[in-house]
Amino acid sequence: METENRYLANVFSKKSVVITKGKGALLWDINGREYVDCASSYGVAALGHCHPKVVEAIKAQAEQLITCHSCYYNDKRAKFIEKLVKITPKGLDKAFLSNSGAESVECAIKLARKYTGKPEIIALMGAFHGKTMGALSATWDKKYREPFMPLIPEIKHVAPDNADKIREAITDKTAAVLMEPIRGEGGVRVPPDGYLQAVREICDEKGVLLIFDEVQTSFGRTGKLFGCQNWGVIPDVMCLAKPFAGGLPIGITVAKENIMSSLKVGEHSTTFSGSPLVCAAGCAAIDALLEEKLADKAAVNGKYFKSALEGLQEKHKIVKEVRGLGLMLGMELRFDVHNVILKALDKGVLVLDAGRTVVRLLPPLVIEKKQIDKAIAVLDTVLGEEENERASSTVPN
Ligand SMILES: *Cc1c(COP(=O)(O)O)cnc(C)c1O
Repeated sequence: METENRYLANVFSKKSVVITKGKGALLWDINGREYVDCASSYGVAALGHCHPKVVEAIKAQAEQLITCHSCYYNDKRAKFIEKLVKITPKGLDKAFLSNSGAESVECAIKLARKYTGKPEIIALMGAFHGKTMGALSATWDKKYREPFMPLIPEIKHVAPDNADKIREAITDKTAAVLMEPIRGEGGVRVPPDGYLQAVREICDEKGVLLIFDEVQTSFGRTGKLFGCQNWGVIPDVMCLAKPFAGGLPIGITVAKENIMSSLKVGEHSTTFSGSPLVCAAGCAAIDALLEEKLADKAAVNGKYFKSALEGLQEKHKIVKEVRGLGLMLGMELRFDVHNVILKALDKGVLVLDAGRTVVRLLPPLVIEKKQIDKAIAVLDTVLGEEENERASSTVPN
């Protein structure tokens, strides 16, 4: 801990634990203490930690070939991309491979500008799309944006969950509407039924591209392979990342063929695009996702988890609302959740926040019922403690 604090940029809100080992939905710290992981490294470990198929694929590929620039062909890259486009929604069958969620958004923004020849992108208030300069321009939270102004121009934000706001914002300079089907960082906000369909219709009518940032909502997380499939809406461009390479860094921008082909040789690239090691892990990850029917599992486990959280809401007045779909869940409290997160960690459960007042749960899709039960028991205790402390102090809620 001292060494990280001494030499690493101080940009992460560090928790006092040294994680050294993981298996499934469990983690262990350097002292051998066990934790239930309801964070998955922000949704990356959807398959659980050290999934045996992924471990095996990485080991085998590491001995074969680790790096191979995309100016050459590679067998694992071809296999991965084929597996990927087999599962993406209809028509989304050309992909650009990168290394992170933010990069998948960067590519989508460039693609929208190149394809349409127009500059403007409409994003949503409350959106999170990453922190590189382009993606950051589409991210909403002032605390991420303001120190770095000016960001890229012609990106504007409109109120979410109201399709009329998007219709009003579209001009003859608009290239695309960019949104998360379910806003994650923005508080686990599931859109009202009909909203995504209405946005799709408006985009079609106005000749504007629809880009879904599915970095957090894809890979079975919401009970479907892709979040948009909960509403039967297919975007023109889709951004993927977090869990797609079983834990290794990856970003993927998928688009309809005529759109992606507007990018010409040299107009976009990155050195690590489609590395054999990452693609081998990605093949194993997609295989495991399908073979283990993890989207269905997320739907079932998610229902169980959500109703248990609703039980906590009934019991504890400090819980304002429970939201989410599949294993993308949020529990909004009536105050800052920082202490709740630290206390849960102290009692052996890792959870995330989503904004100031929302506890966010993104467990591995393989989480077992008894592990969910432990997470709920710990949250129950922590919420009880918080309630008592608040009742006996003068701190306003
Ligand atoms: C995490 C996330 C990103 C950014 O991904 P990074 O890999 O951190 O750059 C973008 N969009 C959404 C919806 C995310 O959840």
